[in-house]
Parts: sequence; structure tokens; C-alpha cells
Amino acid sequence: MTMKKNELLSLAKPHYDKDQLLELDHAIDIATKAHHGQKRKSGEPYIIHPIAVAATLIDWGMDIDSVLAGVLHDTVEDTDTTLEDIEKYFGKDVAFLVDGVTKVSQARAGMQDLTEYLPQTKDNLSKLLIAVGQDVRVVIIKLADRLHNLQTLQHMPRDKQLKIARESLEVFGPMADKLGMGRVRMQIEELAFSYLDPKEFKRLQNTVRKRLGKSTRKLGGVRETVDKALKEQGISFEINGRVKSIYSLHKKLNKVNGNMADIYDLMALRIIVNSKEDCYRVLGILHTLYQPMIARIKDYISVPKPNGYQSLHTTVLTPSEQIVEFQIRTHDMHEFAERGLAASFHYHEQKSSKGYSKKKSAAVLPTHMQWITQLQEIAGRLRNGEEISSSQLNVDLFGDRIFVHSPRGDIYNLPEGGLPLDFAYLVHSDIGKHAYGFKVNGAIHPFDKPLKNGDVVEVMTRKTSLPKKAWIDHVKTTHARNKLRAQLRQLGVIEGISHAAAIIREKTRKKKAS
Ligand code: MN
Repeated sequence: MTMKKNELLSLAKPHYDKDQLLELDHAIDIATKAHHGQKRKSGEPYIIHPIAVAATLIDWGMDIDSVLAGVLHDTVEDTDTTLEDIEKYFGKDVAFLVDGVTKVSQARAGMQDLTEYLPQTKDNLSKLLIAVGQDVRVVIIKLADRLHNLQTLQHMPRDKQLKIARESLEVFGPMADKLGMGRVRMQIEELAFSYLDPKEFKRLQNTVRKRLGKSTRKLGGVRETVDKALKEQGISFEINGRVKSIYSLHKKLNKVNGNMADIYDLMALRIIVNSKEDCYRVLGILHTLYQPMIARIKDYISVPKPNGYQSLHTTVLTPSEQIVEFQIRTHDMHEFAERGLAASFHYHEQKSSKGYSKKKSAAVLPTHMQWITQLQEIAGRLRNGEEISSSQLNVDLFGDRIFVHSPRGDIYNLPEGGLPLDFAYLVHSDIGKHAYGFKVNGAIHPFDKPLKNGDVVEVMTRKTSLPKKAWIDHVKTTHARNKLRAQLRQLGVIEGISHAAAIIREKTRKKKAS
């Protein structure tokens, strides 16, 4: 598990260009020097830790800036290296990421600071996310850091083990979940739980092993039947078994009073196909083969989970009275379910700091990208010193969400109470600009009436129609408000901030700060 400089470089080689690899080489040297003489609890040189973190980030497909920040992530906190040094050698972005990671470590020591900073937010997780929300890559680096600390937890004293394990389950697991990073969430939870309650972990592991032997044999027949039926319909697919993780089994057992007989999805069959249409075809085929349990059919494709997870789930009853859960999804959905947000920073895609290519991402992870684009937009404004009330932050980022559809069937994610113009600006700022009316579910819909979950919203536009000042009262999201204001300013309908107003604003801010 211990990795050396050269191994990290060769791991990186296929994914980054020459200059980037030189930077990585340089970063490792700097970190090695900075951590010289420091040791991990295992007695190994400290540098093995940042190298392991960087290796994980490469494995997750992160962009070079994240990997560099992974190598350097503990230098500012634990060594003489300063942020200025890092900025000088690797630029603003990397320095910004390292600073973010350092701040999370400090924040986690005392969540109180953050409570003061953002008094109205609901939970620690949200606070943490907002604090680092300027760039979600900070959270992703932090997750890689935490993962390695969990992987090397055996060297820690028992009380530290418990503290880190508990915190991982309370904060970092849910955080990975929020970012849709299913695989990482599971890794974190399994490791943390195995330290928190080793006896229970072992017991459940044994139970699963025993039951799995049986159900694998039993499922063999089901799998064959399904395999044959799908082939007959000419669907190309992969099918494999998904075993429930120990920790999620533990949580589920708590809900059903420990009764194993109530766990239907210890082992589920996962079917991965090429298109969304095929997902529904497969569902139809399964339901003609077997009796579905109506209450357990879930369509997370048309209504994804808030973290962007998409799949069809169904639980069926076989003729031999076995209960079998199926999960059906496309390759893209599967990739997203496993890697979540990290997938959107992929080194083979564009650089994340330049934003997302809308066309491409929209096809793969529509609702999720909207959330994250908003997070970044808002964080950017916070960074520029703009004041945003926490209640507005809550509406934009952590409030309840609704899903609405375009007439073409695309799904958009809005805060509860979102108005038609919020939808229009979300689709495209030009659509907002030229809107003159709305149809919702086929009927004319006023500007000031909130949309509801599941609405089909059609924006009526014409080139000659332009935004009006009164619209400011007809938008709820920060995104729509910003776009609208910019357009109104451009049209000369409202003025930009005057010089005098800017000075007053600056003064008030200074007063508050002192
Ligand atoms: Mn670390």
C-alpha cells in the first residue's frame, strides 16, 4: 500500500500532459522536503500519506490541480510551507484548494466557528459544504484524505480510532453521498463501522457470507431466465450481483428490528444497458416474467434522487417464491452512481475551474449539474465579498427541491416555490430574456404562481419580447435573479451600482468586519 514517488508518477503518466507531470514531480519534491523528518503513526515517513491521497485522486479521475493539492494538502498546516509558496510555484487554483482543505481540517476540529459564520444553516454537513463550497474539489480531496486515514487507522490508539470512525460515519459518509459518490461512501462506511463496532461488523459479515452462498445458488436460476429473455429481445446488457454493504445492512436491520427475513435486497441483480429506453424495456420484460411488488417499484430515472442518483428499482416474486430485487440503469448512470461528482472533474474532460460544458453534462447528469453549478456560482459571489443571506443560501442549496419537465421531457431541478421565470432562466438565459408567457401542463400559467413537482413547463418566447423590471419580484433563485439583473442593466432598465452606493456598501462592510 505504501507508494513511492516514481510509482505515483507512472500512475499519473497516462492521464496528464508533460507539463502537468513536471508540476507533479515538483510538488512531490516540495512536499517530501517539507515533511522531512515527520512520521506517520505507523513509523513510516509522513510523505506516504499525501502520496496515497494523490494516488486516490488520480484513481478517481481528478484534474491535475486536485492531484497537486492532494500532494500538498498537509504542508501548510503541518510544515513551514506557506500558501504564498504554493501559489508562487503552482498558481492560484492549487493554493486555493490547499487552503480549502486546511480550513476543513480546522473547521472539523470545532464546528462552532462555522455555526457562527452561518448561523441559520441546518446541519454541520451543510455548513461544511458551504464553507468549502467555493470549490467542490476541496471536499473531494478531503474525502481522499479521510479514506487513507481510515485505511491506516490500525496504527492509532483506540480512542482516536473511535473518534475518527464516528466522525466519518456522521460527516464524511453523508458528504460522499451528497456528492453522489456511492463507491467512496461505501468504502468510508465499511471501514469506519468495522472500527466503531468490530463485533457487530464481524457478526454481520458472517451472516452475509452464509446467506449469500444460499442466495447466489438460488439466484442462478433467475439470472438465467432473465438473461435468456433479454437476449431474445435483442437488448445488449450486463448483469451482475450487487451485495449489500455491511453498514447499510446494519442500518436497515435497525429499522426492521433486526429481522433478517425482512431484508429483501441482501443481494440484488443489477442490469446495465445502453440507453434509458432499454432500462424501461428491461423493466417491462421483468414484470412480464415475474410478479412485481407494486410498492417497491421505484423510478429514479425520471425522478432522480437529490444527489443525482438514477436507476429503476423493482422487487419481484419468483414462481418459487423468492424475493429478488433488480436495479436497472445505463452505463452513464452506473458510472455516476459509483463516482458521482468526481466524474465531472475527469482529467479527460475540460478543466473544471473553467466551468462545465453544458451540452455534454446536461445529457449525463442534468439535475445534479444544476445543483453544483449553483453552488459554485454562489460560492464565487461569497468569495468576492458579496453578502448573501443564509436563508437565500438555504433556498438555493439545501432547501427542498422540486423537479419539473420541459415539453421535451428534460428534467430541471428548482427550489420549492420556484417560479416559471426561474425555470426559464435555468433552461437558458435567452429563453428567460424573451419569455412572454408560460404554459404549465398545457394550461396558461401566471408569472407569480409557483411551480409544482412534476409540472411540464413550456416557455412561450418571441424575439421582440424583452425582460421587465417587475420581473425581479417573479424570480426566486439567485441564478435567475443574477441573469435577469444583468439583462436589465444591459437594456438600461435598471442602473448598475452607482459609485456612491458602492462606497457606502464598502464602508458598511468594513464596519461590520471591525
Ligand atoms: Mn492528510
